[in-house]
Amino acid sequence: LFPIWLHMYLSGSTAYITLPSVVVAGPPGAGKTAFITRLERRDPKPATTYTSQTNNVVELAINEDGTSKYSDDLDASGAVAKKFLMVDTPGHGKLRGATLARLASASSTAETKLRAIVYMVDSAALAEDGGIAAAASYLYEILLALQKRMSAGKSSKAPSAIPVLVAANKADLFTALPAALIKTQLEAELGRIRTSRSKGLLSSGVGADDVDSANENDDWLGEYGSKSFNFAQMREFDTEVAVIAGNVVGDDASGPGLDKWWRWIADKM
Ligand code: GDP
Repeated sequence: LFPIWLHMYLSGSTAYITLPSVVVAGPPGAGKTAFITRLERRDPKPATTYTSQTNNVVELAINEDGTSKYSDDLDASGAVAKKFLMVDTPGHGKLRGATLARLASASSTAETKLRAIVYMVDSAALAEDGGIAAAASYLYEILLALQKRMSAGKSSKAPSAIPVLVAANKADLFTALPAALIKTQLEAELGRIRTSRSKGLLSSGVGADDVDSANENDDWLGEYGSKSFNFAQMREFDTEVAVIAGNVVGDDASGPGLDKWWRWIADKM
């Protein structure tokens, strides 16, 4: 039953969805599976992890006022809980289409059970050659999908906002870039992608005058015509982007752990 349900979920049939959900996306190896596994086990110690090619859904809970920790057993304590789903999506390029399609389908309705996106990156891999570019390209697709969703809804009832947490994982590693640097480097790279895409449009043989400005606007991420990109530009589309460092593996003394991410998520439920 479970895989069928999951199929319905990812193919955008919302008939079976009853709980609010959070999607976890990002490049392969970022730590998505480790993260979701640790939350599922409510394990205050690091989880042993495994690589997964498939989607994985776990049911999680926070207490009614959103103050409980991920490690609290709300069933055992009898606390009234708000339940939600966390969906781990495959990071491999070929499988990203399903995740993006899911975002697109959330666009057809003003109300969505999709409450937030956690975009996980490996803070140490970002310091390596090509690391930022690899992390930014998929993020660009996600942010653009959210932006289009908000612009499409402008005429009728405004769709509910879907905020994005860039979870800068593996902060326990001493080669990890700090969150502030990850933020500015991602913004710079997203700006480069934006520029190269708009050039692609102009050099495709279509005269500048022939380009329907509304369509051109459609593929431009953030404030139209702005020189450089920053995440604050997404506010125009009601899309909040936060960059917060943490670590799933490694004891919490060696890094910030995952409490801040949990707080951010709890706040969106
Ligand atoms: P996914 O492809 O995004 O699902 O990534 P995985 O969850 O399979 O994790 C990839 C690798 O990174 C595994 O070997 C994890 O043990 C490791 N990893 C995950 N989180 C952390 C972390 O916070 N710190 C460190 N040092 N390693 C981590």
